[in-house]
Amino acid sequence: MTERKNDRLSDLSTMREILGRHGFTFSKALGQNFLINPSVCPRMAELCGVDEESGVLEIGPGMGVLTRELAKRSKKTVAVELDTRLLPVLAETLADYPNASVVQGDVMKLDLHRLLQEEFPGMRVAVCANLPYYITSPVIMKILEEKLPITALTVMVQKEAAQRICAKPRTRACGAVSAAVQYYAEPEILFQVSRGSFLPAPNVDSTVIRLNVRPQPPVELRSEKGFFRLVKAAFGQRRKTALNAVSAGMGLPKEQVAQAMERAGLAPNARAEQMTLEMLAAFSNELEA
Ligand code: SAM
Repeated sequence: MTERKNDRLSDLSTMREILGRHGFTFSKALGQNFLINPSVCPRMAELCGVDEESGVLEIGPGMGVLTRELAKRSKKTVAVELDTRLLPVLAETLADYPNASVVQGDVMKLDLHRLLQEEFPGMRVAVCANLPYYITSPVIMKILEEKLPITALTVMVQKEAAQRICAKPRTRACGAVSAAVQYYAEPEILFQVSRGSFLPAPNVDSTVIRLNVRPQPPVELRSEKGFFRLVKAAFGQRRKTALNAVSAGMGLPKEQVAQAMERAGLAPNARAEQMTLEMLAAFSNELEA
């Protein structure tokens, strides 16, 4: 790898000098905590599954610390950034990386299928990002629910969010997001990142996770929409049994829910957190029958 201008971008004084010169101030509302620990971005880029033949989509490049590591290892890197104030900063920090480009926009509003088709035709693509914490789960769910043709999502999220997202069914930590994630992907925890690795330092530590996208869903569903409605309702009121939570959350008569549970082989007093993905799928399929 060749040494490039500003190669030590995560060096605090270099970072402050560049941001100061551009008159940049951090926005809390946009979840702007930039990485200053030089070992984190190379590690993320190494583990996200990208190579010189493939593309990578980044969300929220900030001043480009991770973008540069991804560009060094990929055929093409495209980063979506909402904050227009960062565009001149990125033009400078990515100047030596012709295979990296920035698309200005809100990841929640962009047509990501179109973006991938236009930017990475015929290429294998992975997603890698240090996500803004205020939209962690919505971004992950958008990418998974839209069934983007990607191999994996490697993302840094707050530690608690990582535990929730990666929780296995039949554990106390499992919730609606974990069950939904499990349907689309196999989650794994990669490594921990302390709060001191960021500028400004947030109040919590972070975790890098990788969601390996499944080529096929692990269970067969009559209706994906119905399944996600059921999962949301079943985990929505944790102190209730699944019967009460689903009947209240989905506005269905208790009798109808109880019969569906019986046909699915579930005990009437079962709770969502005691159910495997297969059980939740059977429950949903019987409700949709
Ligand atoms: N990747 C950089 C790093 O690791 O230092 C910055 C990460 S910072 C946690 C999150 C970034 O996401 C910021 O640059 C922020 O402006 C951007 N961002 C926030 N909301 C966004 C949105 N809806 N769409 C795209 N980018 C967004």
